[in-house]
Amino acid sequence: MSGGDPKSHDREGYILRALITGGAGFIGSATAKALVNSGWEVVVYDNFSFGSHDNLAELAHGSRSHTMKVIVGDCIRLKNVKDAIRDCDAVFHFAANPEVRMELSTPEQCFTQNVIATQVVLEAFRESRANTIVFASTSTVYGDAKTLPTPEEYGPLTPISIYGASKLAGEALVGSYCRIFDKHGIILRLANVIGPRSKHGVVSEFVAKLDKNPNELSIMGGGTQKKSYIYIDDCVNGIMATIKHPGELGEVFNLGSDDSMSVKEIGTLVARTMGLKAPHFRLDGGLPDGRGWIGDVKMMLLDVTRLKSIGWSPKLSSRGAVEETVKQIMKRRDAQ
Ligand code: NAD
Repeated sequence: MSGGDPKSHDREGYILRALITGGAGFIGSATAKALVNSGWEVVVYDNFSFGSHDNLAELAHGSRSHTMKVIVGDCIRLKNVKDAIRDCDAVFHFAANPEVRMELSTPEQCFTQNVIATQVVLEAFRESRANTIVFASTSTVYGDAKTLPTPEEYGPLTPISIYGASKLAGEALVGSYCRIFDKHGIILRLANVIGPRSKHGVVSEFVAKLDKNPNELSIMGGGTQKKSYIYIDDCVNGIMATIKHPGELGEVFNLGSDDSMSVKEIGTLVARTMGLKAPHFRLDGGLPDGRGWIGDVKMMLLDVTRLKSIGWSPKLSSRGAVEETVKQIMKRRDAQ
């Protein structure tokens, strides 16, 4: 993949503009803020199925509000995506159905939202003047990796969830479109990204459960599943690092913290950070081998050497990320 350097200004001082699909979501809105703070203009394109205007409120009411445009639209509508991408120099394709659990999504949803929508965005991208696309992929493309921490070169990639498979298909589409149409693609394999605005995942779920019952915490599976968690600020700094170094280190980057935590450790830490005693764990559902659900990867830790070699490193460990997320959730709640 080739292409130019999407810094906030080109050589003539012209301000660069980014289209962010899923820009009203958790990671998309935080990326929009970072881009605006770095001098970019942003076009947020979102169908608001999961996203919210609240996520964009700070930008919408800030001094640089004129640098953000919000378009309500669906990524499967080619004409609307083409209209949104006009005049953009880079695309951050973050819109997706991000649910890994099958009880919360269906194979058809995953295919439409994560594969078809990606192909539609790529069609609009190839005809546009934009030369860079950043794609939010996932650690789940590795499946049950035999090597931990898992490097980008690991293979064969055998996802064990439909979500992981749909993202791997998205990666292949991004890579092939970029090679064929001579554009630059950046694929980010994200670990579990957490922060106060996240609506999915174990930390916000545990806070909500412990609010209802501080003495008992139901957990899916055996509780020994061990994965890596990265705080949203570290994640966004990693995204920004990759767009400043286009093409230097290939197209795929792992983005995660250096350590991992088990579900039980998270439960204990969430309770402690909320000022509660260690709860009694009730093991709910799950599979005989300790997975929380069919398609749950039990062990996940990414090798982030490649991203570190371009100057990025996470400020928080998984533990620090969980603590900070809980503290920020509590702070927001107190402020209401
Ligand atoms: P999110 O649900 O907060 O954001 C996704 C956004 O996309 C939402 O605002 C939603 O309204 C929008 N959207 C969904 N389908 C759309 C469509 N067809 N057209 C237009 N908008 C649509 O999720 P997130 O956590 O911010 O995830 C962002 C991306 O990162 C996703 O692609 C997800 O798969 C990927 N990812 C997230 C994590 C994580 O831990 N949060 C981990 C790995 C990968």
